[in-house]
Amino acid sequence: MLPHNKKLLIYIAVLFIFLYSVIVVSFYYILNDIAINQNKQKLHNILLYEQAQKNYVDKYQKKFIYSLQHQNILSKEFFSPVLMSATFITRHTLEEYNKLRKKEHLPEIKYKIASDNPRNPVNKANKKELKLLEKFNNKKIDIYSKKIKINGKDYIYYAIPVVPNNKSCMKCHSNPNLAPEDLIKMYGDKAGFHEKIGHIRALLSLTLPLEEEYTFIKKISFIFNLILLGLFIFTYIIIYFIIKKLDKKDRQIIESSYTDELTQIFNRKKFNTDIKKNMKNFNKLSPYLMLIDIDHFKKINDTYGHPVGDYVLEELTKLISENIRSNDKFYRIGGEEFAIISTQKNNENERIFAEKIKNLIEKHSFDKVGNITISIGFTKYQPEESYHNWYKRADEALYEAKKTRNTIIEK
Ligand code: GH3
Ligand code: MG
Ligand code: MG
Repeated sequence: MLPHNKKLLIYIAVLFIFLYSVIVVSFYYILNDIAINQNKQKLHNILLYEQAQKNYVDKYQKKFIYSLQHQNILSKEFFSPVLMSATFITRHTLEEYNKLRKKEHLPEIKYKIASDNPRNPVNKANKKELKLLEKFNNKKIDIYSKKIKINGKDYIYYAIPVVPNNKSCMKCHSNPNLAPEDLIKMYGDKAGFHEKIGHIRALLSLTLPLEEEYTFIKKISFIFNLILLGLFIFTYIIIYFIIKKLDKKDRQIIESSYTDELTQIFNRKKFNTDIKKNMKNFNKLSPYLMLIDIDHFKKINDTYGHPVGDYVLEELTKLISENIRSNDKFYRIGGEEFAIISTQKNNENERIFAEKIKNLIEKHSFDKVGNITISIGFTKYQPEESYHNWYKRADEALYEAKKTRNTIIEK
């Protein structure tokens, strides 16, 4: 493959790897975001449900018990958290909920009610929760959520405030004198009192591992990455074959631009290109440059016509081509001038080769024309010399040979 096409394929491969990485990473982040939001939504729904349960306790359960107390069916001093504490009911509902989840192999949802003035010490808010409660009360935020790590695993911590104190809360949370005796017996007259209407005295928080969502992400990512990778590889293969086809055409064009039309051997352009390209190697290889010129070629043209001249050029090329050595490169560099670049070990071999070529042509009988002769000049590349120097010396050798014709001169 041509170097520029190879480069193009490498650039495309690098671009594809870059694009693939960007898409995979972006997709992972998008999925992660979706997973976190899904988890949050789950928790939000549970908390909404818990809120609704608290509202139910306030609106219906407590109201009903108060009416029973009002009708003296139930003692005015009656209090049971089982029926009247939304906090108690919520905590136990969630315990039951977690048991059901466990049965279905679902991860546990950690639940907490955190209060700045708890009746039950279990519900005491820690420092962070107190700060959150302050923010809720100052109306700075109405939802709080954060991705946290517990034992190296990712969780979402989600908190919302409980409904602010209302009238129905005041019976048990304002003055201890107003509270039922049963409640005082159970919790004493210190904790959970002196609350004000409108104050948010607790927050509900849930913590759920991102496990389920992560499993989903992994599955989706795996399938997506596989499809994407397949798509990129498929596209790359198509591009590869298109470039390969174009490369073939490119090479054909270059090849034809390097081929002499009449003799089908390398032309002058190829000769110049090869020399420029191999200049660096010449110090190591010390090649020979051999220039060949047909003697009195003009006469052949003049005597037998141009087509016969062409035939002689073709026939001579064929003869030399069949007899050059494996590391020789053969060019037609002018009308009836040829060049051979060869990497030979010693001068003797090169001279023998030159003589062999000269004799070959001399002894060959060309149709109509009969015998012709050639002159040869050759020279070895000298370390560090310029191409022009080298060529000039070969040309001088040929010029000298031309003086007598049918001669070989080495310089
Ligand atoms: P010398 O022995 O000094 O080399 O004489 P020469 O006649 O061979 O050299 P000269 O340079 O005077 O003439 C070369 C001729 O080659 C002139 C030109 O018309 C002819 N020629 C160049 N290209 C072609 C070609 O493609 N076909 C034919 N038939 N003749 C060509
Ligand atoms: Mg000539
Ligand atoms: Mg000539």
